Amino acid sequence: MKFNITLLPGDGIGPEVVGEAVRVLDVIASKFGHIFNYNERLMGGCSIDKYGSSLTDETLADCKASDAVLLGAVGGPKWDDPNAKDRPERGLLALRKGLGVFANLRPVKVHPALIDSSPLKPEKLKDVDILVVRELTGGLYFGQPKMREMKDGRERAVDTLEYYDYEICRVMELAFNLARGRKKKVTSVDKANVLESSRLWRQLATQVGRDNPDVELEHMLVDTAAMKLITGPAWMDVIVTENMFGDILTDEASVLAGSMGMLPSASLSEAGVGLSHDTRMGLYEPIHGSAPDIAGKGIANPIGTILSCALLLRYSLKLEAEAMSIENAVGETITAGARTADIGGKLTTRQMTDEIIKHI
Ligand code: NAD
Repeated sequence: MKFNITLLPGDGIGPEVVGEAVRVLDVIASKFGHIFNYNERLMGGCSIDKYGSSLTDETLADCKASDAVLLGAVGGPKWDDPNAKDRPERGLLALRKGLGVFANLRPVKVHPALIDSSPLKPEKLKDVDILVVRELTGGLYFGQPKMREMKDGRERAVDTLEYYDYEICRVMELAFNLARGRKKKVTSVDKANVLESSRLWRQLATQVGRDNPDVELEHMLVDTAAMKLITGPAWMDVIVTENMFGDILTDEASVLAGSMGMLPSASLSEAGVGLSHDTRMGLYEPIHGSAPDIAGKGIANPIGTILSCALLLRYSLKLEAEAMSIENAVGETITAGARTADIGGKLTTRQMTDEIIKHI
């Protein structure tokens, strides 16, 4: 089969890890008889430097026209000026909104051979297999008004936390569907004791839960969830939460797996999750940032990006056997002892990828 994939390597270690992930995709293409056409575009800080915009209309149009988008990471100290007209992160938010990818899926699995790389006690990490589903296009990051002003001689800043019922219901339904293929448990995380938007979130979660009685639903306050992720992560299956809570909890959850460099993510649109049938759009990226401290050294862990390719194959291209082939190869490579520096080894980004390719 033939597919078009837009590559947005971005900044810092982004190009390093995306370059290696493409080598893995090429091996999959030749092994399974597919053709992947890549269309590489600038996004983030590099796009600001070249075009004066973190995401150009042309790049967004190219992304929309493709079967899936693979992103590295954006940002870095060069573009950190808070007063700058444009920032790499703005491009990322505009890309998510433009593609309509409303749900971000982050699987967190602890590989048994990496238990010692995590700061948590080994007994806490046994059987950890969590899927965090984060709402991605609503909430505090997008709500209007969003502004700064002078009021009564004081500087004031406003962000707005806003959710419509349909935004909550579609991500909730997705979480229940995903839980059905797993341990059949959904933990809906909110702050319903304080926030009105969370009270709507909880009400609709309960409603969707009633329509899906075969899946167990529990409600949890975000502060409790932050604690449970550390004290009892093995009890959790699917966690579903709003945009900012999800942003914070997913980074916390990444610690369980030993390194930021290990974890993939998939951001899906209604089409991507089967709610409509016109396209299968999805945006796939590792959960880490551009890691300016190690950029250019060739030592970044490529696994988060390589596993993001597995999610791309699974969700956008509907190639399950190919996806599993990558996931199994990564598992076997780790079991065989291959390690980059972040997980206690000496392999370079390229050498780690070579090892994974040997196992495909
Ligand atoms: P980061 O994820 O880039 O790095 C955090 C730490 O983890 C660093 O020590 C880094 O070296 C390490 N690390 C990250 N990925 C790694 C990998 N693949 N292999 C080995 N080590 C890895 O987070 P940060 O330092 O807070 O942010 C750096 C820049 O990235 C900032 O400009 C930030 O805005 C941006 N950022 C972008 C995204 C994104 O593009 N989605 C996400 C988070 C941060």
